Formats: sequence, C-alpha cells, structure tokens
Amino acid sequence: MSGLFEVKAVDRDFYQQHLQGFLPDKIIDIHTHVWLDKFQSKQPEECLRAVTWPHRVAQDNSIEDLMETYRLMFPNKTVVPLIFGSALSQADDIHGGNEYVRECAAKHRIPALIFADPRWSETEFEQRIASGKFLGAKVYLTRSDSRIPERDIQIYDFLPPHQLRVLDRHGWIVMLHIPRPARLRDPLNLMQIVQIEKRYPNLKMIIAHVGRAYCPEDIGDAFGVLGETQKVVFDISANTCAETFERAIRAVGPSRILFGSDLPILRMRTRRICEKGTYVNLVPRGLYGDVSGDPHMRDLDGKEADSLTFFMYEELDAFRRAAHATGLSESDIAAVFRGNAARLLCEAGMPESFLSERREP
Ligand SMILES: [Zn+2]
Repeated sequence: MSGLFEVKAVDRDFYQQHLQGFLPDKIIDIHTHVWLDKFQSKQPEECLRAVTWPHRVAQDNSIEDLMETYRLMFPNKTVVPLIFGSALSQADDIHGGNEYVRECAAKHRIPALIFADPRWSETEFEQRIASGKFLGAKVYLTRSDSRIPERDIQIYDFLPPHQLRVLDRHGWIVMLHIPRPARLRDPLNLMQIVQIEKRYPNLKMIIAHVGRAYCPEDIGDAFGVLGETQKVVFDISANTCAETFERAIRAVGPSRILFGSDLPILRMRTRRICEKGTYVNLVPRGLYGDVSGDPHMRDLDGKEADSLTFFMYEELDAFRRAAHATGLSESDIAAVFRGNAARLLCEAGMPESFLSERREP
C-alpha cells in the first residue's frame, strides 16, 4: 500500500477490465484542486453554504499528492492537470492558496487558474491573473455576499459583469460550478449561461460537472436550450451519470466535452446512485467518519462495501458507457480526454511546450 491511499485488487481489476484500453495514453484533467491545509480557515462547517462530505475525503491536496494520485490510478498514462485552489470559505487564505498554486504551476510547467473573489475590482482581478500567469479564474458560489441564502445565489453574484469583461478581453477561461437547487435544469441558470456566451464571446466558459446534473431528473429541458449555444464547454468531473453524458454528447457533440476529475475528492471510494432524483454516495462504513447526518452519504457493509472502487473510475466508466451508446470514435474520445482541452488552454495562453516537452513516465 502506498502512503497516500490504498489501491486494492478490486481497483486494479476494474481499471484493467473497463478503463485501461478505453483511455488514451495522454490525458489532460481540466478540473483539479490543489491546496495545503494551512490556507484553510478552521471555522465550523455550518458557515459554508455547500455540502460537507468532500471535506471528509482529503484534508488537503499538495501538488505531490496530485501527481502521486495519477501514478496510482492511471498506470502507464501521462496526465497533465489544470490546477486551482480551494478557497471555498471567505475566511480561507485565498492569496496564500493562489500563490501556492502559482508556484506549483511554474515549477511543474502545468496550467493554472486563479481562485477569484467577486469583490475584487476589475483592475485587481486583471492584475492578479496576469501577474500570476494564470489562464483565467475559478469562481465559486460560497464567495458571494453572505447575506444571500444559498438557494437564491445567481451566477452573477460570484461572477460579476466587471470580471466577465476582463475574461472576455483576454480570452481567458472561467471554470463555473453553477448554483441553485434545480442545478442544470434551473431556467435562470440556463438563461444566464446563454447570456454570458452572447455578451462575452471571447471568454472560455467551462461548466463544471456537466452543470451538476448528477441524476437524470436534474436535466429537464437543459440540453434543448444548451443545444443552441455555440461555444460553452462542459467538464464531466465528479459526475457518474451516464445519461447526462449521453444527452450532453448528443446536444453539443464531443468537441465541447472535456475530461475533468475534481481531485482530490475523486479519490473517494464510492458508487453513486440516484433515489427520487437525489444522489447518494455509497461508501464503506466508517471510512469517511460518521455520515449519518448527511443525506448524500450512505454506509455499506460486508461484500457490498468491499466491491466499491474509486469515484474516479466510476466517473470514467459512466463516460465509457455514454461514449459507447452514442457511437463515439477513438478520435472523439481522444478529443474529450486531451485534444479539446489542449486547444482551449493554448488559446487561453498556455505555452504549447507544456504539452510537447512532457515525456512518458
Ligand atoms: Zn471542483
């Protein structure tokens, strides 16, 4: 067993049977979080307007841990991540976290986004991204005005127009985890996604987790609306819903879908099921502490628990099934796992040498 996490026979078998041959040898992971525990505020979790189970999987994720995760999970493959921090709480040390991400990116020659705060002015936002050589921004709903209840938060509350203007001016990337309880099918979310694409045609918008459509009930008419968009792309991170992936592929095509993981939480040992339109992560009892108070978590015992593999593998397998159902070719699959991201990152300013100079392990 490695020091970071255990790879069991069940994991190796799953990888060899379902994933090894499906995945290309070179991969870009467009969605990863890298941070150290010392940047995180130690306030109680209730203050955070977000689900709490991710905190149980990893206390932090250094760049060394991220690279070790790829080595353990993807033997003989090369993975280049797009990295950003995890300053979800307004009390976190957002600048310390961004400086750490900047150093990691420079040292390892990998692309990075700044973790942004909506209160930064147009000039501050622009200068922070440019001076750190970031390719754009990761934004998050918990950074919006704390007086707004979680269910009422809108995209513009944490991605304000003055920052959208900056991203548009430079052709930079924004990684967007959409808010609101109705997730991808929420009409206001959909209207604002379409609006942002029209008003800021130069920026590169990535909708994280395929808009959090983790269950088929989250989709609604979303792909009817999104099928009309031209440019916005979707990452499949932390999503295991094959039906969502299938509908996304049919609506926008494989050239607008990107592999992303959402590491480190994808290290989790879990299988995700949907019940009455809500996702539940099935986990081995005790592995992530007492989860009895969390409606999104459920313990398994015995053989059922022993059969669980990584969240990462479950995501990839769901995408494999969707790729099969929609008849994606090998080159379509290579585009999702590398080509689409390579183009997007280079257009946002990443030196091509970040990809070409990298040698096989
Ligand atoms: Zn994320």
